[in-house]
Amino acid sequence: MITDRPVRVRFAPSPTGFLHIGGARTALFNWIFAKHHGGTFILRIDDTDEERSTEASMREIYDSLQWLGLNWDEGATVGGPHGPYVQSERGNIYRKYVQQLLESDNAYYCYCTPQELTEMREQALAEKRPIRYTGKCRHLTDADRRRFEAEGRKPVVRFKMPEGTIVVQDSILGESKVAHTALQDEVIVKSNGSPLYNLTSTIDDHLMKITHVIRGKDHFSNTPKQILINRALGFETPVFAHLPLVLGSSKGEKLSKRRHGDLVAVGKYRENGYLPEAMINFLVRLGWSYDGSEEIFSVDELIEKFSLKRVGKSDSVFDIKKLQWLNGHYIMKLDLPARTDAVIPFLQRARLLETDLSPERRVWLEKVVEAVGDRLTTLSDITDQASYFFTDDFDYEPQAVKRWWRKGDAVGILQGLREVLAGIDAFDLETVESAIWAYVEEKGIGRVKAMQPLRVALTGKSGGPGLFDITVLLGKAKVIERVDRAIDHLQANH
Ligand code: GLU
Repeated sequence: MITDRPVRVRFAPSPTGFLHIGGARTALFNWIFAKHHGGTFILRIDDTDEERSTEASMREIYDSLQWLGLNWDEGATVGGPHGPYVQSERGNIYRKYVQQLLESDNAYYCYCTPQELTEMREQALAEKRPIRYTGKCRHLTDADRRRFEAEGRKPVVRFKMPEGTIVVQDSILGESKVAHTALQDEVIVKSNGSPLYNLTSTIDDHLMKITHVIRGKDHFSNTPKQILINRALGFETPVFAHLPLVLGSSKGEKLSKRRHGDLVAVGKYRENGYLPEAMINFLVRLGWSYDGSEEIFSVDELIEKFSLKRVGKSDSVFDIKKLQWLNGHYIMKLDLPARTDAVIPFLQRARLLETDLSPERRVWLEKVVEAVGDRLTTLSDITDQASYFFTDDFDYEPQAVKRWWRKGDAVGILQGLREVLAGIDAFDLETVESAIWAYVEEKGIGRVKAMQPLRVALTGKSGGPGLFDITVLLGKAKVIERVDRAIDHLQANH
């Protein structure tokens, strides 16, 4: 029994683009399943589509998997006992099995031209029959074949679908029956000699000793074909588990590049400041739940708790809000030095921070990150949330101006505060705070009324970290400069 063997699973992307959220979810489920069972996780590259497969895509897939921490034990780039793990390098292996299928009368050459296939389709439509290859070339004689070859026709190889009903057992979807009439004699080798997915996948799953095929439900329709090819080749059939689809919204459409653009590419999340821990936690909940309500899982917990039994049948909806929430959670779980390290590339990319940080600047930066606190949904938010710490080049937000500068005597307040701040020698949190409070008290203005005009002057915004933190982190000279600039601005514009 295949289930008595050590667990071996594979992720088998086609390198025709970036790693998609759905693909990453499939990789993750395979990876955790392997870890949970102490098994082996294999990365195979299904690049039988020569025209659409690219090296760049392969590299991007490797990078994204590595970023997520989904390292493979065996497979492309790392090797292993059942290689090569890139299908385009396995041509000889497939040819041998195609020969076996032809010789055992489980496959045949088909010489039908595109024109003949179109006519076949049209006739089926006219007779209201399902559109299916009729099996026309099943019984060609040697003479027929020679005649076609003399005409220069290049044959495909078709798998002969046996009669009867095939029962598919799926660990997630349960049992289903597929009548052979629903299947047609599948092309397994193209006329240019390239073998196709259903054949190569079946052969490789066997040779790579795959015990469980865990993949998206969009491949479910391939499963009966693969089971039949397995049988014809005398292979044992692996356990199948088809994961529910990832939908783009509750309207039911599949998450796709065409409809959802950048939302589908794992690499974009990395670029936009998501943490791999958040992605993993998010991806695992696309289809799997522990008790239905628990949302936060560390990788170790996942490995311990994961089981295919708790993968649901119903499709999951991709909810960016939830991912953002998880990301905020995991950002705050980083300790301050790690959080600082994590935001540095984003500040540098925005040219807000120099590349060679002095030790003093690094200490200061940690304090800025500490002050920003839990205001980051993504790491890249740091540039929005905190740019005024790094540059004088910021605008006053119109809403903030309207609310805090247009009402009352903003100029008078700023002038008063300027004087207080200019008189402080030890520009530290305690001194600044008590000097400002003393001033506010003396003048009998409300605290908020005094603080907010200053906040707008220093940051351009009406919200953000504690104002005393900002004041001290900016330093006396900058604070005075910005208050002066605000006063000038107000006097010129009001
Ligand atoms: N190459 C296929 C894909 O990328 C793999 C499907 C499978 O897991 O069998 O969708």
